[in-house]
Amino acid sequence: MIENTSSSGKKLFLESYGCQMNFSDSEIVASILTSKGYSTTKNFEEADVIFVNTCAIRENAESRVRQRLQDFKKVKQKKPDTVIGVLGCMAERLKSQFLEQEKLLDIVVGPDAYRDLPQLLEQAESGQKAVNVILSREETYADISPVRIDSNGVSAFISITRGCDNMCSFCVVPFTRGRERSRNPESIVAEACDLFEKGYREVTLLGQNVDSYLWAGGGLKKEILTEQQKAASVNFSGLLEMIALIHPDLRVRFSTSHPKDMTNEVLEVMAKYDNICKYIHLPVQSGNSRILELMNRGYNREWYSDRIAAIKRIMPDCGISTDIISGFCSETEEEHQDTLRLMEQVQYDFAYMFMYSERPKTLAERKYKDDIAEEVKKRRLQEIVQLQQQHSALKTKAAVGKVHRVLIEGVSKKSEAQLCGRNSQNTMVVFDKGQYKKGEYVNVLAESCTATTLIGRVI
Ligand code: SAM
Ligand code: SF4
Repeated sequence: MIENTSSSGKKLFLESYGCQMNFSDSEIVASILTSKGYSTTKNFEEADVIFVNTCAIRENAESRVRQRLQDFKKVKQKKPDTVIGVLGCMAERLKSQFLEQEKLLDIVVGPDAYRDLPQLLEQAESGQKAVNVILSREETYADISPVRIDSNGVSAFISITRGCDNMCSFCVVPFTRGRERSRNPESIVAEACDLFEKGYREVTLLGQNVDSYLWAGGGLKKEILTEQQKAASVNFSGLLEMIALIHPDLRVRFSTSHPKDMTNEVLEVMAKYDNICKYIHLPVQSGNSRILELMNRGYNREWYSDRIAAIKRIMPDCGISTDIISGFCSETEEEHQDTLRLMEQVQYDFAYMFMYSERPKTLAERKYKDDIAEEVKKRRLQEIVQLQQQHSALKTKAAVGKVHRVLIEGVSKKSEAQLCGRNSQNTMVVFDKGQYKKGEYVNVLAESCTATTLIGRVI
């Protein structure tokens, strides 16, 4: 975390859990509070305000946060004036009930209420508990310039949409982050230009479903009704092109793509610009059409396979990663095998893999029984993980002997004498330092590899 040294004397400690979107939100929170004179600290014991930006996606994410709160409570016992707050998805999910459960909490703030933080802090400092978990249909924080936390000074996140309208049956996000809204493209371009001028060389556009991005003047997507509005709107491929055109040395990445909405138009824009990284995170969740239907994902196995075929046809060198859930309600052994078979067919470069965790309020919790035993979920997950490890290793090996354009992110973790950075496909590449510096592009010939990292020399 950056130590910011503005001068009101009050110190903020901010810890984030969960997805990239949460980390990006923390940068908005830091911006709002530093503009009110707070400085940030990496040491929670010296903080006047401790905020935890939380994740509610799986039960174990919530348990980790609850455990961590115990550490912060010890600070409060020593320094009772310390304000402790919970932000983000758990705040919205548990609302004021959280204040009851976690007696030493002072503030609970949902993801759309961060503008209210200065006022809520005043309230908490005067001894009252403060809660705002109201979800918005418009808030995109478009005008707030994020304070980059834990930044390498080279790559940064930019949020382009908030919320989600998809209602996948396992997922709590539509409840914790509200309806889908797109952010004004001009503000996105301005943020990316500003980052480039400050020396950043890579931006990652963030949204729960970036392919669903649609700007026609603000508000909810489903309220964009007239043909005239539609004609004047900017969709995701349009936005991607606008960002790619800022400068050939500014790389563009994005996450997450949704199989039901990812169009060939997006793939063609990716293929057209060298500075749009050839990497797509396309979560499949399951390789079986019956399970996908129960998950309410809006596509079946054939549709997903067609999207993968389109990626491979339009960009043969594109890296592909995914998310997979093991042991969703009623999943049979054969249906689990379908997931493994799909993995064999696609050969993902990388995957995030999870056991199904039932979440309160979701469609699955209301409609289906969480009937796959924990050991079965665990064993299926292990099979998925093992297969993915094989595929990742094969993919890394296949990249040896090739030249990769790498954006240097900094010194390698293992050796001060080496630098590291990613290639377009998002694989980490390590090479000797020489005269090269962070933020520069180099061409590296990959000469060997570990399971996930390429090792080479600059040519
Ligand atoms: N919006 C993205 C999408 O649709 O692909 C993903 C958002 S979610 C933050 C990240 C991943 O968490 C999901 O793709 C899914 O694999 C996993 N996930 C979400 N809810 C889950 C649950 N109840 N149990 C296990 N994994 C879950
Ligand atoms: Fe959750 Fe589905 Fe939305 Fe992703 S697309 S955030 S999994 S509801």
